[in-house]
Amino acid sequence: MNILILGSGGREHALAWAVKQNPKTDRLIVAPGNAGIAQLAECADIDILDGSAVVAFCAANAVDFVIIGPEAPLAAGVADATRAAGLLTFGPSAEAAKLEASKAFTKEICDACAAPTAAWARFTQSAPARAYVQAQGAPIVVKADGLAAGKGVIVAMTVTEALAAIDDMFGGEFGTAGAEVVIEEFMTGEEASFFILTDGVNALPIGTAQDHKRAGEGDSGPNTGGMGAYSPAPVLTPALQSQAMEQIVLPTIAEMARRGTPYSGVLYAGLMIENGQCRLVEYNARFGDPETQVLMMRLGAQALDLLLACAEGRLDQTRAHWADDHALTVVMAAQGYPGAYARGSAIRGLEALPESSSQMVFHAGTTLTDGQITASGGRVLNVTARGATLAEAQARAYAMVDAIDWPEGFCRRDIGWRAL
Ligand code: AMP
Repeated sequence: MNILILGSGGREHALAWAVKQNPKTDRLIVAPGNAGIAQLAECADIDILDGSAVVAFCAANAVDFVIIGPEAPLAAGVADATRAAGLLTFGPSAEAAKLEASKAFTKEICDACAAPTAAWARFTQSAPARAYVQAQGAPIVVKADGLAAGKGVIVAMTVTEALAAIDDMFGGEFGTAGAEVVIEEFMTGEEASFFILTDGVNALPIGTAQDHKRAGEGDSGPNTGGMGAYSPAPVLTPALQSQAMEQIVLPTIAEMARRGTPYSGVLYAGLMIENGQCRLVEYNARFGDPETQVLMMRLGAQALDLLLACAEGRLDQTRAHWADDHALTVVMAAQGYPGAYARGSAIRGLEALPESSSQMVFHAGTTLTDGQITASGGRVLNVTARGATLAEAQARAYAMVDAIDWPEGFCRRDIGWRAL
């Protein structure tokens, strides 16, 4: 098969790495890709938010299967365009991707199918939102309804902070994403990510992971896109996974189908676990980044078979095969991230690192400049290893980190601490 993956981050490098190992793959193209992806696939420069450009590229290159990595093309309807053109596609329609693109929509779905989640209210005007916060008190969570690149959620510890967040959102800080505001009960507990493939009817869990959102060790400092992850997440026990499937995931899939907008793709459920119960924090309509890096390392070549079964509606006849292993990824970021950072610094030592089915450096933000790999983003490398235990995976990942010569970069040294 000729396969096109859309995206350019560590998530897409990990997807490409797994897909490439499957003997079904003939030609592998990633658009736009990055310097690491270019070592195993062709990179193509197309506007991935433009469905007709993607369709035209597929026709010109005899693409058989399109895998959509990030949320922006999903929300822009790229999966609708490729499916309408008869292309086999992994990724939900724009209507179904509203489970990520609109927080109020997700809450409505939860209410319609009685899925446990935080109590909530929605507002399109400042005065009633402010009054609601005054009445509820703090801590309380204020969210811009739409996509805001992970920045539209304010966990407010005081009423003053919550009111300021409301003012910012209605003041246009998040553009149209903040035209509507969702205010939620603050939930306590431990967070974990649960990944489920669904073809709209059938559902297949494909793993659990835990992310590290804060920039600093001990989960201190500002929020980021994610500084590391590991899989499996021991907090999501088999019993809790069954509970999440029965109370949250399967009812959501059924409700989406009932509305005539079935969800096909990966459903990424962010869960809050407390006292043996899980509640939904949010859905994402795509794989997590950096969680995909650890999931793909554990799934390997079979990932393509699973994505194909999902796209073809055959998940009822499909199984995922798991080794009893662990994977961990350490994000190396440019100093200053998530604030201002410099681009263009050279990264050395990557060539000397052995790459195998149990250790890989996935590239998130790199460019090849005159034969030298340079940093071109905030999150730059995802150093990923597998082990029989989480401690072994962690030790192997940090041994690779220590062999990388990049003085302008930094990483957290405590990825995995919660489970270890
Ligand atoms: P979201 O984009 O909705 O996942 O929110 C980003 C992060 O904010 C989550 O991963 C949680 O850590 C936190 N968060 C979101 N909603 C809540 C809530 N209702 N209670 C506590 N923390 C929350």
